[in-house]
Order: sequence, then structure tokens, then C-alpha cells
Amino acid sequence: MEIRKIGVLGAGLMGNGIAQVAAQAGYDVVMRDIEDRFVENGLKAIDSFLTKSVEKGKLKEEEKRQILGRIKGTTEMEDLRDVDFVIEAVTENMDLKKEAFRTLDEITRKEVILATNTSSLSITEISVATKRPERVVGMHFFNPVPLMRLVEVIRGFYTNDQTVATTTDLAKRFGKETIEVKKDIPGFIVNRLLIPHFLEAISLYENGIASKEDIDKAVRLGLNYPMGPFELMDLLGNDTTYAIIDYFFNNLNKELKWTMPYTMRALVKAGRFGRKTKKGWYEY
Ligand code: NAD
Repeated sequence: MEIRKIGVLGAGLMGNGIAQVAAQAGYDVVMRDIEDRFVENGLKAIDSFLTKSVEKGKLKEEEKRQILGRIKGTTEMEDLRDVDFVIEAVTENMDLKKEAFRTLDEITRKEVILATNTSSLSITEISVATKRPERVVGMHFFNPVPLMRLVEVIRGFYTNDQTVATTTDLAKRFGKETIEVKKDIPGFIVNRLLIPHFLEAISLYENGIASKEDIDKAVRLGLNYPMGPFELMDLLGNDTTYAIIDYFFNNLNKELKWTMPYTMRALVKAGRFGRKTKKGWYEY
């Protein structure tokens, strides 16, 4: 099935960014939120991003007009009836997402893939709210969507190969790089690594080891990350980050208790220190 029209559920930070990159890639987009003001804010955010691109000479005024012309904002779920692919980006809440997927399953054609942009929640659990769990997949974009190059494509327990292939292909058409996450674990790859980093930063701050500013500076200058953890939490939205941490504590806490990983112990005991010996993790 050829994908021409994409449904985006949610017009917030992520939803409007996803709608923008889809329209920039030439797709017709229907972006749905629950209230007019959210839809309008989403459309305004896209307009403002594209206006800045025109000012910087990265986009022509005519191209901006065409991109905006491909995006229809709506509060009607019914307007997603004839889309060929759906990307859900509603608030990070399992009940809300399940309800959304149940409705999407009822109104869209059976062969349509339903992707979720969840940051942490189980793709499998979301997928079984539908009668097509093999066509439900994680499609995790990063913020700000038009600038961040990665999309994680995540398999739920039932997701089939065709769904993964189509979703990966679509992300590439949006100009993104992809990685495949083969198992449905909380936080996938990026947030699985990022959340412990946030938790350690918060713990250093709470214990009075350093100020938030100095922790951010340490990470920027000492690790060469573009942003420190506190700056990044503010950018991502502390409400979303809170929801992810909460989900981790309920679903992953035992795994997150710090112990020395046995592979690290073995590597070091074997003298495979990496840089000096040239025999580190990659020859393990
Ligand atoms: P947001 O609060 O900016 O936007 C969420 C939007 O969803 C709101 O406008 C809300 O009105 C709308 N909504 C709620 N129920 C809806 C429904 N049934 N139908 C349509 N719209 C509905 O949140 P966000 O930061 O855009 O996050 C959205 C999703 O993307 C979450 O799952 C989040 O975990 C994920 N995500 C967020 C980031 C980030 O940096 N913020 C990064 C990657 C993924």
C-alpha cells in the first residue's frame, strides 16, 4: 500500500514536529488534538519554525506555503478515517494511549500501520488494545523533531517484519536515521540510557554535591554533551520526564539497582582496558 496521507494524533511539542517533517517530506498530514486551541498552537509552532527557516534562507516562501498547505489541523477523530499511516503523539499515559489506539483501530483501514511515539511505555501493551497488534510499532522521534536525526523503531511482541520495514522506510523518507530496537523494554535505547543519567544528576544535586548549573557545566565540558541533564529535562518537559521515571520505577526498578555488570568485571580482570591495549569492549 502506498503511503500518501499520514495521521498524527496530538498537536503538542512532538505531534506538531512530526506533522511538520511529514509535510516537508511531501506527505499530506491530518493532525488531530482534542481542542481547537491545541491544534492552533501546533499549527502556529510549525508556521514559526518554517518562517525562521525562510529568514535563514534555508527554505523559500513558496515551499513554506506548500508545506503548510499539506497539513490539516482538526479536532475530529473521524478525519483520520482515510489516512494510510498513523503516528500517535498524545500525552505519555498508558490509559490514554490505549483508548486512542482502540479508536484508531475502529476507524482506520485494517492494513494501516499504527505507530506510537511513546518515550517509554510498552508497545505490546498498547498494541493489544487493537485487533492488529502485528501492525502496531514504536516510532520514537526526538525533540525538536525537525532537527534531531534519530528515530528508534521498536518491535512490540507481535510486530511483524513488514511493519518494521515500512516504518523504517517512512522514517528515512522523513530524512531520519533509524535504529531497530528488537525487544520491547521500558525506555528502549535512548531513554534507557538517559533516565539513569538524569537520576544520578538529581541525586548529586539533592545531596548538595554541586549546583544544577555546575552539574550541567560538568556534563557539557567534561563529557562534551551539547547540554547538561537539567537543561535537557527542561527542554524535554519535566512532566513527560516524570512520567517516564515513574514508569521505570514501576517496571524496571529491580534492573536499575546498581551492581557491577559482570561483563565489565570480566573485561577489566582480563586486562582488556580498551584504549591502551586496543582490546576493549569490541573484541570482548
Ligand atoms: P505535549 O503535552 O506537548 O502534547 C501532547 C498533546 O496530546 C497535547 O496537546 C494533548 O492535548 C494531546 N492529546 C491528549 N489526548 C489526545 C487524544 N486522545 N487525541 C489527540 N490529542 C490528544 O507532549 P509531548 O512532549 O508532545 O509528548 C507526546 C508524546 O511524545 C508522549 O508520549 C511523550 O512521551 C513522547 N515524546 C516526548 C518527547 C519530548 O521531548 N517531550 C520526546 C520523544 C517522545
